[in-house]
Amino acid sequence: MSRLDDHVTLRGHRVPVGAYLDGRWTTTDAAFAVINPSDADPLAEVAECGPAEALRGLDAAAASQEAWRSVPPRQRAELFHHAHSLMLERVDAFTDVMVLESGKPRAEAEGEFGLSAGFFRWYAEQIAHLHGTYSDATTGGYRVVTTHQPVGPSFLVTPWNFPLLMAARKAGAALAAGCTVLMKSAKETPLTAALFTQVLHDAGFPAGVVNLVHTTDSAAVSEAVLPDPRLRKISFTGSTGVGSTLLSAAARNIVNSSMELGGDGPFVVLDDADIEHAVEQAVACKFRNAGQACVAANRIILHRDIAEEFTERFVERAEALRVGDGFDGVDVGPIITQSQLERVGALVTRFVEAGAEVLTGGRELDAKGFFYEPTVLRVSGRGGEFCNEELFAPVAALYTVDSAEEAVDFANDTRYGLASYVFTRDLNAAFAISERLDFGMVGINRGIMADPAAAFGGIKESGLGREGGHEGIYEFLEPKYLAITVD
Ligand code: NAD
Repeated sequence: MSRLDDHVTLRGHRVPVGAYLDGRWTTTDAAFAVINPSDADPLAEVAECGPAEALRGLDAAAASQEAWRSVPPRQRAELFHHAHSLMLERVDAFTDVMVLESGKPRAEAEGEFGLSAGFFRWYAEQIAHLHGTYSDATTGGYRVVTTHQPVGPSFLVTPWNFPLLMAARKAGAALAAGCTVLMKSAKETPLTAALFTQVLHDAGFPAGVVNLVHTTDSAAVSEAVLPDPRLRKISFTGSTGVGSTLLSAAARNIVNSSMELGGDGPFVVLDDADIEHAVEQAVACKFRNAGQACVAANRIILHRDIAEEFTERFVERAEALRVGDGFDGVDVGPIITQSQLERVGALVTRFVEAGAEVLTGGRELDAKGFFYEPTVLRVSGRGGEFCNEELFAPVAALYTVDSAEEAVDFANDTRYGLASYVFTRDLNAAFAISERLDFGMVGINRGIMADPAAAFGGIKESGLGREGGHEGIYEFLEPKYLAITVD
């Protein structure tokens, strides 16, 4: 180690700050600061990586690919079970570090931790159950056998908003499928990724199978890695703009690509819905992670007959939310950075200029950290540009419609297609509406729906492919067809 110490101690937890390459924590010539969004103070300095470190990570991933895919399923699953139990032992480290670097309330960090560990356990359970198919050829005379093989070395790029869940969900699927990985953390939350990587190291994943880089210049790293012919897969979670750039780059070498991108989250409440339940779910769906979630309710679409009652209760609940440092028992934490905080202020101003009425909130808190009041806006008309823009903020936009038909048409009026929601007591109506919603996921009387067994993902400009469920593992497997002559 040169400039950097090899770790930082945060709230009593030891967190590595280097890059993890070929089974070792290693430092680089430069470092960058990780900022606590709750007080704007630096938390740690981590190793700044560039193309050289990323390519070293890819070297290691490529060199260990053949050996890793040959590890018998039961043995691979044992490593996963070990990693899962180490995660559980380190719950406090994970949750504290997530609160520190992402700002989320501790209860939310615990929820994210539980789901992430659940993903890892679920993948462990699937490893021994991956199988192909066998049938007669339609013309007879030979057999059609389909097997599945790991795609190969994979580049995993994750965002800051769910730093553990995104890493565990991607790496879990890739490693379960027999792929080696190069992970790139988000610059705002490298420490959570480091703790996760340390778990895999301690669980005994062989050197080279898992590699991790941190960087403030993600473009330089991806431009070095994506054209390399040894790279066979990119799995990205982040904004649609960056996803589109990476897809273009991946197209040059026809690199297998999975993209989990932005969302618009229309949240439809019909006239026969259980209003109290819908309000409670809408509050969770909108204000969780201070609204910085791809599945957050972006447009809350209310049937006119219940709009007033819903609005009144929703505003009351939004006003009761406590905002502050995630360690202080609050409901809503900070916005991730100063520049994102400024974007939220500008967003609300644009809404107001477009005729929206501020029912509550609408201001930054007078604090050192990057806090914004939970805000509720009543939008007249259809909101135009806002149908195609992720709010990504603790800002709820309420719209009114006159029928279920109109609600569905309006919900579909977006370039995105990730999560959608419908609230009604009529299961027939819910099912019929879910079939018409152009989204990868529909929550029926539910505002939160991530689960290890579920295929999570979107259509349209929300992405390609799925994470979680059986589909999530098959994203990292290629079918191989064997034609076998039988005399
Ligand atoms: P972002 O697109 O700015 O960044 C995501 C990741 O990509 C980060 O690690 C970032 O460093 C990296 N990145 C940026 N430019 C890159 C480049 N040229 N090459 C390689 N990597 C690059 O998004 P963000 O602000 O960190 O995250 C929020 C976005 O993520 C939102 O749009 C949200 O909807 C989306 N998201 C989607 C899902 C999903 O499952 N669909 C889940 C969480 C977040």
